[in-house]
Amino acid sequence: MANGKIQRITPQRRMIQEVLDKPDYHPTAAELYEDLRRRLPRISLGTVYRNLDLLVRNGLINKLDMGSSKSRYDGNTKKHHHIRCVSCHRMDDINALPAGQTEPQIKEIRGYRILDHHFEFVGLCPSCRNRQNAGEEKRL
Ligand SMILES: [Zn+2]
Ligand SMILES: [Zn+2]
Repeated sequence: MANGKIQRITPQRRMIQEVLDKPDYHPTAAELYEDLRRRLPRISLGTVYRNLDLLVRNGLINKLDMGSSKSRYDGNTKKHHHIRCVSCHRMDDINALPAGQTEPQIKEIRGYRILDHHFEFVGLCPSCRNRQNAGEEKRL
């Protein structure tokens, strides 16, 4: 890979981009592979990794490095934040903060010049909240 530019768009790559374009979809490579296999039964995990890598290097998708857990991939390359459910691990996009909430405008911290920041909110998603509420009602 001399210059990292995408030379030709393979059907696999187009399909990966198409699948990742779904809103609020942040699969791991393995999850994406399972998803793609339904449409492209002959695709290999290696091909998925190779194409993801290429798309990330070309800025067409984002790779979310989340501490020790596996990387997830995101087709939404506009600046946004994430919220993750601690119970079912579902992850949604936060495209705009709630009214009245602002992002910190920090220019420098601990000697670093700040270029960007990302929030990861953690919480319970609506369906896990419902399940939890239903469980609590049963116990009453
Ligand atoms: Zn949940
Ligand atoms: Zn996202």
